[in-house]
Amino acid sequence: MEFTYKAYESLIALLRENGYAVRNYHNWETAPRCVILRHDIDFSLDSAVELAALEQRLGVSSTYFVLLTSDFYNPASPGSLAKLRTIQSMGHEIGLHFDAKAYPEGTEQELVEHIRKEIDILSQLLDGPVSTMSMHRPSATVLESNLKIQGVEISYEKTFFCDFKYLSDSRRHWREPVLDIIRSQAYDHLHILTHAFWYHQQEQDIAQSVTAFICSAAGERYLQMADNIRSIGEILQKSEV
Ligand SMILES: [Zn+2]
Repeated sequence: MEFTYKAYESLIALLRENGYAVRNYHNWETAPRCVILRHDIDFSLDSAVELAALEQRLGVSSTYFVLLTSDFYNPASPGSLAKLRTIQSMGHEIGLHFDAKAYPEGTEQELVEHIRKEIDILSQLLDGPVSTMSMHRPSATVLESNLKIQGVEISYEKTFFCDFKYLSDSRRHWREPVLDIIRSQAYDHLHILTHAFWYHQQEQDIAQSVTAFICSAAGERYLQMADNIRSIGEILQKSEV
């Protein structure tokens, strides 16, 4: 499968042709054959907004998981919050993407407290309840812990990880032939994780994709500087970065 919007559209079409209803972490039990579409926002809110818009055009709703502890974006900034609200307004859900490595290793109880704190912060930022969570690059210990948090569906819960067939494009690589698995109809429940960051209008290899993202950061930094320093044009033109 290519990493283009066209290919993603075909993925959704294939799911429909094979009778998979698109459901989420809360209502999946209402369809005998269903798929949960999950997106972890590891790097770019802009990529997430683009994929969210495509999904809206295709008439599907999914869940976007946002990090609070990332160096790549700040969900509390007005610009980022506007992007998250845009994703919600397109009919998608925002969940918490939790990075346990942001905290010192501790007991399971401490881990639950960190997650609860972040759920609370994200709920306050979004001015509404947050009731789903996924883990960012979970360690084996975290995966095995089978955490339970009142009122929060955890994407790594046994239900979503074992009772569903889990397919992921992590590191821009499908470990299993996702399209063949859908066509086989061998599983009634699919849980598909895609990272919007890897999808573009035209196919790009992993190096092109990463290089373009890193290089675009200079222009973004320039605009952020312009918002926070007087007459940046007297110092430097955008074309110079
Ligand atoms: Zn992640």
